[in-house]
Amino acid sequence: MQPYHLPDQTGHFGQFGGSFVAETLVHALDALRDAYDRYRDDPEFQREFAYELEHYVGRPSPVYHAQRWSEQLGGAQIWLKREDLNHTGAHKVNNCIGQILLARRMGKPRIIAETGAGQHGVAAATVAARYGLECVVYMGSEDVRRQASNVYRMKLLGATVRSVDSGSCTLKDALNEAMRDWVTNVEDTFYIIGTVAGPHPYPLMVRDFQSVIGQECIEQMPRDAGRQPDYVLASVGGGSNAMGIFYPYIDYEQVRLIGIEAAGEGLDSGRHAASLNRGVVGVLHGNRTYLLQDENGQITETHSISAGLDYPGVGPEHAWLKESGRAQYVGITDREALAAFHDCCRIEGIMPALESAHALAYATKLAPTLPRDQIILVNLSGRGDKDMHTVAELSGISL
Ligand SMILES: *Cc1c(COP(=O)(O)O)cnc(C)c1O
Repeated sequence: MQPYHLPDQTGHFGQFGGSFVAETLVHALDALRDAYDRYRDDPEFQREFAYELEHYVGRPSPVYHAQRWSEQLGGAQIWLKREDLNHTGAHKVNNCIGQILLARRMGKPRIIAETGAGQHGVAAATVAARYGLECVVYMGSEDVRRQASNVYRMKLLGATVRSVDSGSCTLKDALNEAMRDWVTNVEDTFYIIGTVAGPHPYPLMVRDFQSVIGQECIEQMPRDAGRQPDYVLASVGGGSNAMGIFYPYIDYEQVRLIGIEAAGEGLDSGRHAASLNRGVVGVLHGNRTYLLQDENGQITETHSISAGLDYPGVGPEHAWLKESGRAQYVGITDREALAAFHDCCRIEGIMPALESAHALAYATKLAPTLPRDQIILVNLSGRGDKDMHTVAELSGISL
């Protein structure tokens, strides 16, 4: 097998990826690509990135043997990569640090971002505060209402939150508005995208910044677990925590990679966010990928218990990994994710993000089918404090 080497010069992963944007953005993306080409292998850039990850984010995050849970399930050993222990409580900050270091080198004093549930907005506002840059976060007015505490967090961190009142007043409308801002203010503005989607070079760049997750696992697993895992599992919204842990393992052919999508009320219910399992190939947010749309080509409303997985597309590299057969993608329902959330709390004393609970739920299905000496490594992408209200509400408890 040839070593994995994608995307190509034009940002393609097979037929997926690329750059489908308005003429006005071509220049901005070219400049970004040139800057990233220049700094990607620059030792000083890499040194600063590593320093920030260690001293600000708190890396490396450990791998943890979920021993009690594995014993109860009676099969393979489940190990967790503890991204929940990062500053701000999830993997998103890794990427935000990388992009803001690039923004500084490009001399851009102003950061913009868009956010749905608010998690990427909080991570962007955090790094903007850390470096004293101006930060504007676009958010659909419906999301502003639903995610009031994250809106307040962003404000405490000094960011301006712009509520977007168009379309369905959610993430995709915030995205359009952020793009409009970028076109207008491209001279002084850097747009931080929060997942492995968008036009080239974002899917490449975000994957590279997040791949610190898998690189650490490759060192940690032989030391702490005795060898590399047999399976690596991660939840897939846009796909950044999954690409982060998958990418360094792609050339380890014996390691199986499994991405877990939000099956919501069921893959055949019409109420889910499983673009790879139920989507069609098309263009969304500047790249060609799998997406959820109706017969008329309209993007459909998605549903998931977990706000972070509630996205109608998926990063183009996952589309490629699926097509090439290197990774496999499955669905986990709201109900299954919720059960895994409760089990993880009670059996391991770890409250997982509902996104991560999807990957955990699949691990609990897989483990009992495997011998005890097999190892399943799950990316625990974030902590669940943010989801307590959702879980309480579903249990009929008001906090
Ligand atoms: C945002 C988020 C996700 C989903 O985003 P990806 O880009 O698919 O990783 C998963 N887990 C947590 C904790 C998140 O905050």
